[in-house]
Amino acid sequence: MVRESFLSINEIRRLAWPCLSPLNPIPIMAMKKKLAVILFLLCLAGCASSRMTVNSVANPENVPWQALSKNGITIEYQHPDERLISDLLQQVVAGEHAVTEFFGSPFPKSYKVRIFSSRAEMDDFWSRTVERPVASANCWMIASATAELLYILSPRIWLTEACANNPDRESIQNTINHELVHVYHAQLNPNKLWNMKGRTWFIEGLAVHASKQLTARNWTSLKNIANSDARPKGLGDFWGATKKNSYSLSGSLIEYIDKTFGRDVIVQMLSKTTKEELLDAIGVSEASLIQGWQSYVMRRPDAQ
Ligand SMILES: [Zn+2]
Repeated sequence: MVRESFLSINEIRRLAWPCLSPLNPIPIMAMKKKLAVILFLLCLAGCASSRMTVNSVANPENVPWQALSKNGITIEYQHPDERLISDLLQQVVAGEHAVTEFFGSPFPKSYKVRIFSSRAEMDDFWSRTVERPVASANCWMIASATAELLYILSPRIWLTEACANNPDRESIQNTINHELVHVYHAQLNPNKLWNMKGRTWFIEGLAVHASKQLTARNWTSLKNIANSDARPKGLGDFWGATKKNSYSLSGSLIEYIDKTFGRDVIVQMLSKTTKEELLDAIGVSEASLIQGWQSYVMRRPDAQ
């Protein structure tokens, strides 16, 4: 399935929000009012920004892209998102600061950010980027990343061209931070991340943990899983065995490794490409790692 083989698509809703399924619709008027408020606030922030440069960007499809740069980061966008871009760029700058602080060193290479103004265009780009056809992306897929590029569906259309993603400031920041962790990881790993099948527990778990996406509600669910027969028995079970909790299970495992073995170990793991290399970096067997995770989750307070 696409979601399991392509590792960089974000799925924030599984961590924090209920799905906006047809069984649980948001009233259209409420959606429009909330979006209007958000757009207004983003516009205010954008109007107040300074020290940015705007340039035209050439692209093979001859679609009129523009670019805005700040602090060495360039964000590419199209006309419909003009009023959001200044604030989004500020959030990317904040995200880069947070990721750099987590890993203790700056991004090794430069990267760009691209805001897609339509779902169809992002899906088409995504399909070409992963070098294989994609029939259709799931509606909750709103962002992705490579070593050179973070790309994201414009929050302007999250309520109409995505599902279960509220375009509030915290959600946007979480999404940016999560994807920037993938960018950082991809820059330090010799393999393309989506080719690292079987290590998704590390790739996605790292992004979830480093961007602080686990909530008290997640930890309550994780305790129930860790205390049941449905708990992971092998590292492969953290991703995909129970699809509903893959992000939170993997994130909790990386938090356990981080808190128990140290941030230096996490940094060493960034360049590893196999399960054996990852376990060597931690210095434990697969069985004892999972046993340690189980007791860590059982002991951990929910609300931190
Ligand atoms: Zn991800």
